[in-house]
Amino acid sequence: MPPEIVMNHATFRKSLAFEGFARACAEAGMARVSVWGDEVRAVGAGRARALLADLGLGVFGFNRAGPLLADAAGRGAAFDAARREVDLAAGLGADHVLVFPGGLPTGRRDMAAARDATADAVLALLDHARACGVRLALEPLHPMLAGDRTTLCTLAEANALCARAGSGLGLVIDTYHVWWDPELGAQIAAAGAAGRILGLHVNDWLRPTTHMLTDRGMMGDGIIDLRGIFDATRAAGYGGPVEVEIFSERWWAEPPARVMALALDRCTAIFGAGGGA
Ligand code: ZN
Repeated sequence: MPPEIVMNHATFRKSLAFEGFARACAEAGMARVSVWGDEVRAVGAGRARALLADLGLGVFGFNRAGPLLADAAGRGAAFDAARREVDLAAGLGADHVLVFPGGLPTGRRDMAAARDATADAVLALLDHARACGVRLALEPLHPMLAGDRTTLCTLAEANALCARAGSGLGLVIDTYHVWWDPELGAQIAAAGAAGRILGLHVNDWLRPTTHMLTDRGMMGDGIIDLRGIFDATRAAGYGGPVEVEIFSERWWAEPPARVMALALDRCTAIFGAGGGA
């Protein structure tokens, strides 16, 4: 059976505001969308909720809670802001909230201490998320972003923290961030066996890559074995959607209808996917 396809609003960040994005996904036959808190706030949480209800769309992923790491002086404010994001996600009925650890606090060089602080902050936020009935998702980011945007770069680290935390914490596998990992297959299998794979983000790694954040490729244009990773998640028991998340100046500059159609075509070719659920 073809997988459900979900679009992440980041794929249309500069080409569609929240309402246009939601309408485009509904018109393409999708059942759910993945959203960003800043885009939701731009239209207002009540308006966003009503719009999604009108269009019959659910919220899959909610981006994001964090950054969590901050100087001692800013830690309380950072945690409060993350809690508000969880509240907003719960109000939208999101399936899961992506955790964004953030990089090393200014002036710090101790990655081990930052990893420990990230784990503590995630566990504290998890108490709040459990009370709200929302799952948190760890998303390891590519090591080129270590220290700058996250301290958590591998599925092994995410699996270990999930095992320590227990219920309510899972992980999202983003092909862009983990395709290089020698332990990829084993860690996907471990995550699946524990029932903690909450999502699969797809895109591609272009060769060469010209920007760390905004030069992700359309599926099929790069060198990631997307079908192989998809098959590994399915074999591990993940039955959820394939989520298209492409941060790309190139694709943001294209007509959104063209990007939507091309992304769906690529998903069909690679994953055997249809348009909707
Ligand atoms: Zn992602």
